[in-house]
Amino acid sequence: MAKRDYYEVLGVPKGASKDEIKKAYRKLAIKYHPDKNPGDKNAEDSFKEATEAYEVLGDEKKRQAYDQFGFAGVEGMNGGGGGHDYSTVFHDFEDIFGDFGDIFSSFFGGGGSRSQGGRKRRSNRGPDLRYNLEVSFKDAVYGTKVEIAYTRNVSCSTCGGSGTASGSGKKVCPTCGGSGQVRRSSGFFSIASPCPTCGGEGYIIENPCTACHGSGLLRKQQKIKVTIPPGIESGKRINIPGQGDNAAGGGPAGDLYVFITVKPHDYFERDGNDLYCAIPISFTQAALGSEIQVSTLEDKKLKLKIPAGTQNGKILRIKNEGVPYLHNNAKKGDLYIKIMIEVPKKLSLRSKQLLKELADIEGENGTPQPVSLSSLR
Ligand SMILES: [Zn+2]
Ligand SMILES: [Zn+2]
Repeated sequence: MAKRDYYEVLGVPKGASKDEIKKAYRKLAIKYHPDKNPGDKNAEDSFKEATEAYEVLGDEKKRQAYDQFGFAGVEGMNGGGGGHDYSTVFHDFEDIFGDFGDIFSSFFGGGGSRSQGGRKRRSNRGPDLRYNLEVSFKDAVYGTKVEIAYTRNVSCSTCGGSGTASGSGKKVCPTCGGSGQVRRSSGFFSIASPCPTCGGEGYIIENPCTACHGSGLLRKQQKIKVTIPPGIESGKRINIPGQGDNAAGGGPAGDLYVFITVKPHDYFERDGNDLYCAIPISFTQAALGSEIQVSTLEDKKLKLKIPAGTQNGKILRIKNEGVPYLHNNAKKGDLYIKIMIEVPKKLSLRSKQLLKELADIEGENGTPQPVSLSSLR
């Protein structure tokens, strides 16, 4: 069977929004669902076709690849190709089907986000945290260690994260009988929603732990040292595993993400791994040539030769005095120095005499011709 274009399958235009795509798929899935069309091979095919289309168009990355390269673009991306993985598309199962979710669980063998007789199973891993860290220009170039303080949720040590006072336990929720859901019939469907008494957990705590009030979590101030690697740039993030929030009921903590912003420097600028700065010299230094001493970002003093006849705006390079490469600190960029020739504003009588003499010897051009602006760079 020739494959139909995914947009055609879902009956949406190429520029359809995420929401339109989701709605279109929801409609088709409910119409063609095998449970509603027992033994109907055509309906099953239509259902699979729609699901495959949604798997791709409902995922931003895959949709982009498909828009650009067609079926070939999504081959091997878990969909579009032969056998596909329903679990990816049904990550947002409840999001799409909401109350209708239950009628699908048989078809997908509960392999989506549902299990244990319809009880919502949550991932036990705690949430990730974000910390915004501003570092100086120099620290970003050469690396440093910074101590940061923040607050995170940790498992309550009194109750071990269970939320129950010692000796007491959890009681099956009397409202939902432990399923975490309450149901009511509405025409064709049996509609399930999270139990309002236990919040979908299926149990209630008889005697909540006094330290954490039953949540199983405590807020804790914590300080940790973050290693800023040399060469880091604004917008990069450093991942510190296991230093995010703990989830209620135990389970591993999420990660801490430190987002880096680099403060600008007074006179150094950075372009990738190269550093730039400007240095003023006198017009006599430029004309006669000289050797000057320049300070690097690291405060290293380096000798720099100014060739005789150096023009304003000339850029001189000092090799290997730039920014270390993030993943190979032995390798560095270069330092570029732009020469700015300063014209003296105040002259002594003697200086004036000498310059006049110079003007007489050299002769002065009273009718200079324009030059292109690019020759000034
Ligand atoms: Zn506790
Ligand atoms: Zn309940």
